[in-house]
Amino acid sequence: MATAKKPAARRKTRAATPEPASCPDCNGTGEHTETVRVGARKGRVTADRQTVLCLTCWGTGHATD
Ligand SMILES: [Zn+2]
Repeated sequence: MATAKKPAARRKTRAATPEPASCPDCNGTGEHTETVRVGARKGRVTADRQTVLCLTCWGTGHATD
């Protein structure tokens, strides 16, 4: 009767590529949405909104170390 020893099942270690932490400023989106302001000292708020690059992660959405 063959009682070949089974190799101990290797426990799976952490994934090879762990999820990078999301940027705290943009929540991982890499961009912000801000209200468009016009006029002297940008006092008047328009109904338009513009998307701007997140300067914390430069649009990657990943938190920097
Ligand atoms: Zn960001």
